[in-house]
Amino acid sequence: MSSEAAFIPLSVPDLQGREWELIKDCLDTGWVSSVGAYVDRFEKSLAEQAGTSYAVATSSGTAALHVALLVAGVKPGDLVLVPSMTFIAPVNAITYVGAVPVFMDAEPRHWQMDVGLMEIFLTEECVFRADGLFHKDSGARVAALLPVHVLGHPVDMEHLMKLARTFEIPVIEDATESLGSLYHGKPTGGLGHVGCFSFNGNKIITTGGGGMLVTENADWAKRAKYLTTQAKDDPVEYIHGEIGYNYRLTNLQAAMGCAQMERLARMVAQRRQIRERYFNSLRELPGLTFQEEAPNVTSNFWLSTLLVDEKKCSISARALRQKLSAERIDSRPLWQPIHQSPAYRRSGWVGAAACPVAERLFDQALSLPSTSSLSEKDVDRVLRAIRYALEV
Ligand SMILES: *Cc1c(COP(=O)(O)O)cnc(C)c1O
Repeated sequence: MSSEAAFIPLSVPDLQGREWELIKDCLDTGWVSSVGAYVDRFEKSLAEQAGTSYAVATSSGTAALHVALLVAGVKPGDLVLVPSMTFIAPVNAITYVGAVPVFMDAEPRHWQMDVGLMEIFLTEECVFRADGLFHKDSGARVAALLPVHVLGHPVDMEHLMKLARTFEIPVIEDATESLGSLYHGKPTGGLGHVGCFSFNGNKIITTGGGGMLVTENADWAKRAKYLTTQAKDDPVEYIHGEIGYNYRLTNLQAAMGCAQMERLARMVAQRRQIRERYFNSLRELPGLTFQEEAPNVTSNFWLSTLLVDEKKCSISARALRQKLSAERIDSRPLWQPIHQSPAYRRSGWVGAAACPVAERLFDQALSLPSTSSLSEKDVDRVLRAIRYALEV
């Protein structure tokens, strides 16, 4: 392999559908801004996908999470349980509403928020009263659970929803990485009380940038629409009932989203095939472990990710990344666990005293090129480069 070989990116837009045609329609008709038929159509399409009655388009996945926390009634000083091993956006959203993140460690097989640890925290460190669930040490209210389906693999939602019912806490699902994933046959995003999707450029489908909030709750959907459109009570006199946000998605972006949604099933199938090819080729090699798929789960395998155990394969994840990079192949470690992030070291709490699994994942994980349009030839080039680096 030479340095002139084409660069293989980690995850980039796959634009082989009707994107051009539908965006052109917006330009031809003049409907380019934040209202239009494509916004309505895109919302409908995501509600259908998630199996919910309502969907509200937003300018980003982070904006959807922010508004989800607001409609779920999370207030300043409240606690929200969230995994430490996640992209930082959901934790920032918790901070935007003045609440405090309580970090939960990951479980070692599927790398999702450990619901067993959550149960211990909720039952042993909190007290359930008529007016809610309160953390004993701080006296703060536990206002929401915020599971993130990390890398597209669903969290153990059955167990989590049972806790939510027992303690009467709303669940905000961060499904930004898991569009098209199934849990016990049901799509993620519609499993909790409110779900959030992202259409950022590196996600399963993209609108360039954008997000969506989905819910069964008519009042929450209505309030989400209100808050994302500057909380306008009177569109003529410009009377605003409260402080809202401009979190709207444009019709142009929604048109692109509609075109992308037409190919969602195919793109998910392709990401799964890519993961399968990596898995079948590398699973037997010593020191390499893949994120496992749980029974009754269909992950979209947004990113094919494996752990590199330096003790067993004589190379670290980061050294392997360097070697792939020299072959013009992109790869990426997981995110720094948020309890260790300079942004949160001092302000968040660790619910389980420590997050050793999240720390190990950060040390060992490497995500491989996973774009849905990646060819088998390119996957094989990645595989050859890995074997070469591992000297096997
Ligand atoms: C991408 C992502 C988001 C945020 O999405 P944006 O559209 O980029 O704001 C939120 N949470 C997780 C876990 C993500 O991966």
